[in-house]
Amino acid sequence: MASTSNSNLDTSTDEKVASSESESALETARRQLYHAAAHLDIDSNIVERLKYPKKVHEVTVPIKRDDGTVEVFTGYRAQHDSVRGPHKGGLRYHPEVTRDECVGLGMWMTWKCAVMDLPFGGAKGGVAVNPKELSSAEKERLTRRFAQELRDVIGPNHDIPAPDMGTDPQTMAWLMDAYSMQEGETTPGVVTGKPPVIGGSEGREEAPGRSVAIITQLVCEYYDRPLDETTVAIQGYGSVGANAARLLDDWGATIVAISDVNGAMYDPEGIDTASVPSHDEEPEAVTKYADNVISNDELLTLDVDVLIPAALGNVLTKENAEAVAADLVVEGANGPTTSTADSILAERDVAVIPDILANAGGVTVSYFEWLQDINRRAWSLERVNDELETEMQAAWRAIKTEFEQRDVTWRDAAYIVALSRIAEAHEARGLWP
Ligand code: GLU
Repeated sequence: MASTSNSNLDTSTDEKVASSESESALETARRQLYHAAAHLDIDSNIVERLKYPKKVHEVTVPIKRDDGTVEVFTGYRAQHDSVRGPHKGGLRYHPEVTRDECVGLGMWMTWKCAVMDLPFGGAKGGVAVNPKELSSAEKERLTRRFAQELRDVIGPNHDIPAPDMGTDPQTMAWLMDAYSMQEGETTPGVVTGKPPVIGGSEGREEAPGRSVAIITQLVCEYYDRPLDETTVAIQGYGSVGANAARLLDDWGATIVAISDVNGAMYDPEGIDTASVPSHDEEPEAVTKYADNVISNDELLTLDVDVLIPAALGNVLTKENAEAVAADLVVEGANGPTTSTADSILAERDVAVIPDILANAGGVTVSYFEWLQDINRRAWSLERVNDELETEMQAAWRAIKTEFEQRDVTWRDAAYIVALSRIAEAHEARGLWP
């Protein structure tokens, strides 16, 4: 690679945000980029390019509410980098969606796809709306209109959305239908995470939780910790948390705590995870079924072997990182650890396995779905799960090599793997014109 100088990295911004706990996803994503770049001999011009998204689309999405009034929402699609392939990443419906959040989360998707060696770049989008305040018909109208507003910038070879916070397979089905109707041809490959009956993949919904479980098993093995002697606390019992909990439970681990927004169920003897409905099966059921309820904050500092934050971003902060008693943290959510908390946990030798590896099963099975759509040939669930396992193990091995050779954190090792691959692709392609 050409230059050894990282002189034009904006480290002043890096320091400025270091003291702030209200760091945005974009600030965190940039900081992580500088951190990884500092370990590598990368052309500083490439790092400079990667600080910025390629394009950010902002649209207004008017819908008719059920009472006949018109309301206008703002939607975004941030396309970060596409050097390795089409943009890929979720669409979220959440009141706090902003332009910068989409850019930061889009950057994470670039790293996540590169860590998994998928032929995709990164993107993220969403609408600033509270989906809980929309009826199903309103959500459908919002999705169809949003699809229309984004029609020129998405597509199976260009940018492929998927579910994220507040969106689900049904949302992807509406999006695929709206796009297909306008294009005049059924185009399943325009989105992933669809229901299998219209070209979705078996195993896609379970995949982020499955990859969290696979990585937890691999990291426990690495630290010589048999799963049947391992206790686990999981924040969140949605698709990621519940699937990870049930698989780890099946594989012998003792799940001592799970939670929903109202609090956590705690049983030091182990929870029968199959008997507690996930958020998708019955919203907010965890606390209803619990005999012993503790708070979500207490869950994060339980004396367990493995802590899996699988609900929201920024839950491990400078306020509670000293009190985290787990030896291993496996990030199920995107961005659950603030930068300050990350430094505190690193100083305390708590191993933090980053989101861009741990929950990457979602986008990996999205890739399998896209292949199935393009080839018009569905895979069996067994094949999906086997290939996911193979991909997770390959990514784990690549990261383990960097971790051992460079004596860095697991997060840095994952970023080093991702950034090297992206930088090499940029180097090979060069700058146009
Ligand atoms: N939204 C998911 C993520 O954050 C999946 C993205 C995808 O499948 O494209 O990884």
